[in-house]
This record gives sequence, structure tokens and C-alpha cells, in this order.
Amino acid sequence: MKLPVEKNKMYEMYVDDIGIHGEGIGKIDGYTVFVEGALPKEQIQVLIVKTKKQFGYGKLLKILQPSPKRVTPKCPVAEKCGGCQLQHISYDSQLAWKTKKVKDHLERIGGFSDVKIEQTRGMEVPWAYRNKVQLPVGGTVDDVKIGFYANRSHRIIDTDCCALQYPVNQKIVEIIRAFLQEYHIAPYQEETHTGLVRHILIRVGYHTNEIMVCMVINGNKLPYADVLVERLCNIEGMTSIVVNENKAKTNVILGNRTTTIWGQDCIHDTIGGISFAISPLSFYQVNPVQTNVLYQTALDFADLHGTETVLDLYCGIGTISLFLAQQAKSVFGVEIVPEAIADAKKNAMANGIQNASFVAGAAEDVIPKLYEIQQLQADVVVVDPPRKGCDATLLDTILQIRPKKVVYVSCDSATLARDLQYLCKEQYRLEQVCVVDMFPQTVHVETVCLLSNLNAKQHIEVDIHMDELDLTDAEKKATYGEIKEYVLEHTGFKVSSLYIAQVKQKCGIIERENYNKPKSEDARQPQCPPDKEKAIMNALRNFGMI
Ligand code: SAH
Repeated sequence: MKLPVEKNKMYEMYVDDIGIHGEGIGKIDGYTVFVEGALPKEQIQVLIVKTKKQFGYGKLLKILQPSPKRVTPKCPVAEKCGGCQLQHISYDSQLAWKTKKVKDHLERIGGFSDVKIEQTRGMEVPWAYRNKVQLPVGGTVDDVKIGFYANRSHRIIDTDCCALQYPVNQKIVEIIRAFLQEYHIAPYQEETHTGLVRHILIRVGYHTNEIMVCMVINGNKLPYADVLVERLCNIEGMTSIVVNENKAKTNVILGNRTTTIWGQDCIHDTIGGISFAISPLSFYQVNPVQTNVLYQTALDFADLHGTETVLDLYCGIGTISLFLAQQAKSVFGVEIVPEAIADAKKNAMANGIQNASFVAGAAEDVIPKLYEIQQLQADVVVVDPPRKGCDATLLDTILQIRPKKVVYVSCDSATLARDLQYLCKEQYRLEQVCVVDMFPQTVHVETVCLLSNLNAKQHIEVDIHMDELDLTDAEKKATYGEIKEYVLEHTGFKVSSLYIAQVKQKCGIIERENYNKPKSEDARQPQCPPDKEKAIMNALRNFGMI
């Protein structure tokens, strides 16, 4: 079949949409074309670079009619550098785009048709926010390149400025660049796995101004390290200079061995008044201003009163755990990286927090085991998984634990939507969604969601009704608690008061329709599944109620 466009030919096109990677989308004679850097409502000239049966890709050649939302990027290399995808869009429009992206995912993947999302919470100044950068080093001894990888490649775009970094980084990079050239220290060559210096990692404590420089090398020793130290330690705030050995042929930036060549082993920063020690290998959120907003939202959603048991799953170095521990009875954190758990324990101690405990392991192993062995209970479960979302085994166990609230923090709204749908099939309802812009100028989004347990709510209502209302003769024969116990013992099912009330009503034991009506009329009403209905009926029979 002949396509309406040909590769390597130029066309004019109107852009009418924007995709999830920030690319412009339009049609040429009904054929969809994706164009990086183009915006909706723009008339553009495009070169077709790749064609597939259903759609193709174009290179933006010229903007014939620009969008009112287009702005000039701050970075001169913004178009080439793969770090930012949205620098050419006004910040307000970036926030609106992020809100829409999350809403679309929740609707299309999660099946939530009535989600109310407030506008994405953005930064007042959406620049120079990153407390950590990892810069690849390449080029030659005489012409060292330090910068960022170009989009979808490992070609280094040499840059002496990046508008997302702290300005002090520029000074550090220039000192290192001059040092490498002066002492003829070879930059790493990925293709041949030769050369010494692979990456420069810089971390800065936002509230403390403490700086860490980590030289990642393909070897055991950085020559003339004392010279570099002498030059770097003149920078105000320099706290830690370390060398990390990574001799593996891999894309992973850091190796396992780190040696401190000057100053301390780690730097410190604070979030919400809690101090954290950060080592080169620890995961720590990169936007400290917005981390506060993110964690505060999680805390607001958890609505703690000092009596709750909280699980913080995928807890990293315990940042959310310690934030929540201040207002909970106890917090239990689980994280797969043992070093992060060691840091979490140290951080708890250093801050005098005694009601937080931590264990290393995969959340999907640890939590089901603890539920099985110790009937682990929790009032609130917080999850903050990596992009791939939560394992189904873990979600199943959360459904069994039945916390009153689940607070889901996510860096990928597609897997978030998938997991929320799973949790909200029956027991939970999506109450609130808040999008926080942790990564201005890029397509990445962080979302916090609050789920509440429908059964827990109705359980309370039923109990209140029990006191208030006269019971029928049949009902007097067994309490809700006795029925639940009977069902659990004989079938292993946990059934809610709501389900019992529904079955009772079906059997004509009660007429009071308010049992199964939630207080708010718009609440989604879970219906007792057939297998549980059968189990409840058997219990009613056993107690002579039917
Ligand atoms: N809540 C933390 C960390 C979130 S990042 C913070 O805000 O800083 C996600 C974390 O999940 C990482 O620390 C990663 O190491 C951890 N992780 C990845 N897979 C995991 C699993 N299966 N079980 C537990 N933790 C896991």
C-alpha cells in the first residue's frame, strides 16, 4: 500500500496534539506524523525521516506559524541535549500538560471516569533545581567533553552551562576539565572501554550548601588527585571529594567501591526539619524544594493523629518514613537496597526518631510473609515504587491487610493507573490525586494519590446502626463479628459487615436498606462476590438464621 508521505521528502503540516514524550502530533493526508519540538496549533515544515504502516516520524525544519505557548529555551543546547524535552513550552503550559497526562492515564488505563485533579503544583522558579548531576566525560585528552548525552544516544553534548543545575557546578566542571587536560588524564571511551575518567557526579545539600564531588573512574587510582583536591576544596561548601571505581563494561554509572580522598564520606541535607546523610550511592530526590511539597502532600493524605501504624514500602533511605513518623504511632519501612536501609536506620537515630523501624528486602516478599506469619496490620500503607509500579503479589497483600488508607506516590502515571485500578476493583476508592512538578522542563511527572477503604468506612457505619436499631429475631442469633469469624474459620475469606448486610437483606432477614447505603450517595458501592455470598449463607444457616 502506498503511504501518503515519502521518506526524505519535505511537507507542510498542522500540529494538533502533543504526545506523552512532549512531541508534536499532526496528520498529512490522514497519515499521523510525530515531530519532536513541534507544538499544537503550529504550522510547520517537516522532513519525513522514518515511515511505518500506521505512522511516521518527522524532523522539524521550520516553524511557519508558532504557537502562543512557545518560548525561547534558556539553554543554548536545549534542542540537542536529551535532558530537557519541554524547555520550548511556557511553564504554565508545561504544568497543564502534566495534569492532562496524569488525567488521561487514569481515565484510559485506570478506567476512572470522574477523577478530579487540581492543577499540577509547580515551582515558583522552575530552574536550577537539581541537587544532583551525573555528567559523562568523553572526547580526547586535548579536547575533553563534559556534558549530557544527546537524545536517545551516547553522544556527549559538551556544555558549560545547564539551566537545571546549581550554578556552582559550572565552576567545578571547569576546574576538572582544566585539570584533566593539563595532566593528560584520558577521558573514558565507551566503544573501546579505555581511558580513565567516566563520569563526574556532583551533589549539593540544598539547605546546608554542602558539596560532594565524585570522580567515577575506570581504574584504581586517579593520578595527581592531590592537585585536584587542592583546587576543588577552595570552593565554598566543598565537604566531600570521593573516587568511585567502575571498571565494568556497563551503562550503570557508579561502581561499588568508593574511596574518600578529601573531607567527609557523605553530605547532609534536611527535609521538613529532618536531617539526612547522603552518600554517593544513596537514592535521594533531586528537587529538594518540590520534595517538601511531595512529602507534605503524602502526609496530608495520610491524615495521621499519632495513633496509626504506617507501612512505608519502597522507602529508600527512609525519607518519607521519618517525615511520617513524627505524626504516627509507628512506621515500618521496607526497601530492596541494603545500604539504603542502613542509611535509613542511621538517619532515624541521628534525628532521635525511635518509632521507625526498617527492613531490607523486596516489598513483594517481605510484606506477604509478615502478613502470613504475624498477621501484619496497618492503618496506612504508603507505596513509592520505581517506574514499573508495584508487584501484583504486594497489591494482593495490601488488599488483605485492608488499611484504612493507601497513599500511592508514583513517578510513572501509566503504571500508577494500572495499580490503582487493581486496588479499586472492590475495596478502595480513589479520593484525591495531586500532581507535583518535581522535574520542570522535562516530561517527568510525580503523582500522589489517596485511596480510602470503602469497607472500613461502612464497617463503622454498620456498627453504629447496630446499637441504634432493634434487631429482628433472626439477627439476634449471631452478631456480625461471629458471622465473620465463622466465615474466616471455614473458608479463609475475610468478609465485611457490608457484605453480610447485603446477604442478610437478600435472605429477607433485614429490611433496613440503610445498611448497604454508604453515607455519601456518590460512593462506589462494592457488591458481595458470589463465593463470599455462598460462605456467608453457610454461616447464616449454621446459626439458624435462615
Ligand atoms: N520513597 C523514597 C524512595 C523512592 S524511589 C524516597 O522518596 O526517597 C523507589 C525505591 O524503591 C528505590 O529506593 C528502590 O531501591 C526501591 N525498590 C525498587 N524495587 C523494590 C522492591 N521490589 N521492593 C522494595 N524496594 C524496592
